[in-house]
Amino acid sequence: MSELIVMKFGGTSVADPEKIQRAAERAITHRKKGKKVVVVVSAPGEMTDELIALARRVAPSPDPRELDMLMATGEQVGISLFAIACEARGVPATSLTGPQAGIFADAKHTKAKITQIRPGKIHQELKRGNIVIVAGFQGLNPRRDITTLGRGGSDLTAVALAAALEARQCEIYTDVHGVYTADPRLVPDARLIARISYDEMLELAGAGAQVMQSRSIEVAKKYGVRIQVAHAFDKHSPGTWIIEEVPSMEEAVVTGVALDRNQIKVTIRDVPDKPGMAADVFDMLGKANVNVDMIIQSAARGQSNDISFTVPKDDHESAIKALETVQRRLKTGSIEHNVNVAKVSVVGVGMRSHSGVAGKMFRTLADNSVNIQMIATSEIKISCIIENADGEKALRVLHKAFGLEKRRP
Ligand code: ADP
Ligand code: ASP
Ligand code: MG
Repeated sequence: MSELIVMKFGGTSVADPEKIQRAAERAITHRKKGKKVVVVVSAPGEMTDELIALARRVAPSPDPRELDMLMATGEQVGISLFAIACEARGVPATSLTGPQAGIFADAKHTKAKITQIRPGKIHQELKRGNIVIVAGFQGLNPRRDITTLGRGGSDLTAVALAAALEARQCEIYTDVHGVYTADPRLVPDARLIARISYDEMLELAGAGAQVMQSRSIEVAKKYGVRIQVAHAFDKHSPGTWIIEEVPSMEEAVVTGVALDRNQIKVTIRDVPDKPGMAADVFDMLGKANVNVDMIIQSAARGQSNDISFTVPKDDHESAIKALETVQRRLKTGSIEHNVNVAKVSVVGVGMRSHSGVAGKMFRTLADNSVNIQMIATSEIKISCIIENADGEKALRVLHKAFGLEKRRP
């Protein structure tokens, strides 16, 4: 049986006709080697952002079902152009939307999870010798409506398809050479990481390293999908392997640093200090589908305390609505929103066995006059909320402090 591979091309890699042709040629090269090829394609360039902006010009908070209908068209542009490019080179190809490809998702519009993949049609098309080109970022929900899978969701489509099709590997092609010790656009001397564990990649992605969507890494870990991240147009780029375990000799204490500018800090003042209040607040936010990240509760002052937490910018509107209910029902004080914050994180499995990372992180930030507003830790990650204006500086000084720069020859 011939080998099956899944290749995914992100928006920047299919941003114009010339890039689409070059990406198609990469898929054709694999096909000509006798492989079965499934390609996942994103919306070209900035099309998703443009579609969202367009909807907002029509109505400030667009209906989520209709926003999904609109956003899903971006990927449809990408897949059809990709198939046209393959056909024009004499290689048979078929494009499929998420629903046509048998991708089923839950009902949460704009951030649905994939629930099931029924790949019958994909197999049929592959058997006919076609390159199969699947729209990323979309699935069909139980009401037979199109739902999208959260920003960056084409990564999830690719990894989930690789699992369902038992592909040998999932190749993620993007506009950088792989996963670096920091965003190479913000930290010019960031180093390419040859191999990284699922756990570290998951934390880096959650911390804002947008090169992989974090949910895609959860799925890769669950099903053992080997991912290679590489540059779309450099055939010699070795890229980064995302795998279960990295031999311990290669492990540094800190593997990478990340900056997330997509967070908002919310503070609820004067929450009555009695059992069940925090549960009520976060239940209401959960029901409104708001993803809460960092949380701190201040020490009680008299009969009340303050609760601060962060939410993604995309969830801000739903959070505001839910918090109006919180304020009314729980009789809390005022609610403050701070949009000028950023989250900076250091990640590394080495933290499990080495102490002192937190101290070094806080000291480095202090020495550079960066004030820490909130702190959260996991076994292999430490994150701080800081002033947005300090974000890039914080990222660079931490990258240097933990010795992550390119080694000079
Ligand atoms: P695509 O359109 O291919 O999905 P994305 O824009 O989603 O591409 O992701 C690639 C971008 O991720 C890069 O251009 C880079 O700026 C950013 N990035 C952030 N952190 C990292 C990191 N640690 N390593 C590599 N790229 C990163
Ligand atoms: N086009 C979608 C987005 O911009 C999905 C993706 O690119 O992965 O978020
Ligand atoms: Mg992406």
